[in-house]
Amino acid sequence: MKKSVIIVGSGLGGLTCGVILAKNGYNVTVLEQNAQIGGCLQCFTRKGVKFETGMHFIGSVGDNQPLNGIWKYLELDKNILLSPLDTDGYDVFKIKKLKYSFPIGKKSLLEKLKIDFPHQSKQLENLWMKIDLVVNNSSIKTIGKNQIPDSEALILGDLPLDNVLNESIEDETLRNILVGNLPLYAARKDRTPFSLFAFIMDFYRNGAYRIIGGSDTIANSLCKTIESYGGRVLTHHKVEKLNSKENFAREIICDNGTSFTADEFILAIHPARFLELTDSHIIRKTYRERINNLQQSPGCFSIYLNFKKNSVPYMNFNFYSYKNNTPWDCEYYTKEEWPKGYLYMHFCNETNQKFAESGVVLSYINFNEVEDWIGSKIGQRGEKYNTFKANCAEKLLSFLEKDFPGITNNIAEYYTSTPLTYLDYTGTEYGGMYGISKIAGGGALTRIAHRTKFSNVHLAGQNVNSHGFQGVIIGSLTVCSDIFGNSEFLTNTFQENDR
Ligand SMILES: Cc1cc2nc3c(=O)[nH]c(=O)nc-3n(C[C@H](O)[C@H](O)[C@H](O)COP(=O)(O)OP(=O)(O)OC[C@H]3O[C@@H](n4cnc5c(N)ncnc54)[C@H](O)[C@@H]3O)c2cc1C
Repeated sequence: MKKSVIIVGSGLGGLTCGVILAKNGYNVTVLEQNAQIGGCLQCFTRKGVKFETGMHFIGSVGDNQPLNGIWKYLELDKNILLSPLDTDGYDVFKIKKLKYSFPIGKKSLLEKLKIDFPHQSKQLENLWMKIDLVVNNSSIKTIGKNQIPDSEALILGDLPLDNVLNESIEDETLRNILVGNLPLYAARKDRTPFSLFAFIMDFYRNGAYRIIGGSDTIANSLCKTIESYGGRVLTHHKVEKLNSKENFAREIICDNGTSFTADEFILAIHPARFLELTDSHIIRKTYRERINNLQQSPGCFSIYLNFKKNSVPYMNFNFYSYKNNTPWDCEYYTKEEWPKGYLYMHFCNETNQKFAESGVVLSYINFNEVEDWIGSKIGQRGEKYNTFKANCAEKLLSFLEKDFPGITNNIAEYYTSTPLTYLDYTGTEYGGMYGISKIAGGGALTRIAHRTKFSNVHLAGQNVNSHGFQGVIIGSLTVCSDIFGNSEFLTNTFQENDR
């Protein structure tokens, strides 16, 4: 008889585990609390115009790139069309008055930086060697292989990014440029490990792509694949309880009264939500305290822009702007200072797009700004909340207008969201962009193991390995290998030449 698995959460983590398990003979059921699947892959449509709320671009999935094997294994190549971002500058930054862009390609960025900072050539080469050392010893290169990671790489990867950059690069301007895209990993000075920077640099060095038609096409494709292998994905199923006997989970109960039993359970949700499902003594108080006290990544205020027809040329790159001469510390601000920085991107409807139909501007905002409205419902948070959002939008749009004069005249309508929106739509603690913060030197105490005290309950998703397309998928591969008791299936998913 087929083994059964219940997966809680239909974000990238839950759905990729679902595909892998369904393809390996498991009877898969995915339970999602919302009306829409996808978590951070969700899009919404207003007046026929579509907006992405989370994932906006991905890397490394093209031919001969590190994630190409898993991309095909997940059958995403059958349904997803990608549009490459500008080769010469997929990430463009404005750091106060300085403008810079990152080209795609492992060597191209290094060469460009060496030309612009010739006095730092040797230092840049050394930094690139450090990035390679960390990446070559990370799960993406070692998963499914009997390779023991180099301890020097592990130590280096766990050092604070800021320290490594300060030691490696003398030129302050260059250091600031190197972290120009840090909102992608919600980096915090002195705390974010060097490994996160190394993964991001490596992920997009191979290629960066928008998802044509929006990130929800990834969720829909994964769902279709699960169903084609006999599985199912059920929306409007908020899991509220996990019943267990000693260290064995037996049953899951949903808010609509339905219950599900299975051999294995994967909780692809924030670990704080997992703790709410069980009061079993198996989960020790110290574990609960540790999870509940972990630092969360910052949340964001988002403006979704609906542009007037054919008024805004399509921008085939990501644009980051910082008021000060450093990208660091945008999450620390006074009311007067906010917003200190933002990330601006356009939605991709088709290849060779001429004009943007919609776009998004994201800026860090602290949860305490919206905590007065905790417990209120979406659309019913009241006038004060609406005024708060309108004020934030006005400030953020006037910052955008400075960088793109005339843009506000081309906005037909806009919508906004806060960390409360993310909390409600994804269940992520404090609506943090990427779940639990990765802390340099924090060791095991700041990490979430995918195994739990229940022998048949596993955690997956961005809080387990790392966030983003690559981080979440590597986490799913690890969890599934553990359930299978071997990693043989990985040889199919990662061809040697893909790595
Ligand atoms: C604004 C933003 C921009 C981003 N941009 C990028 C990008 O450009 N590129 C990139 O690679 N990554 C990006 N990311 C990160 C990436 O989107 C996430 O790391 C990833 O999608 C998280 O997937 P997940 O499955 O771990 O969690 P989630 O997507 O949060 O999914 C969790 C799911 O579980 C459901 N759930 C929670 N509790 C329950 C319950 N009790 N019962 C049932 N269901 C439940 C939620 O409703 C949700 O659907 C971005 C994220 C954000 C927020």
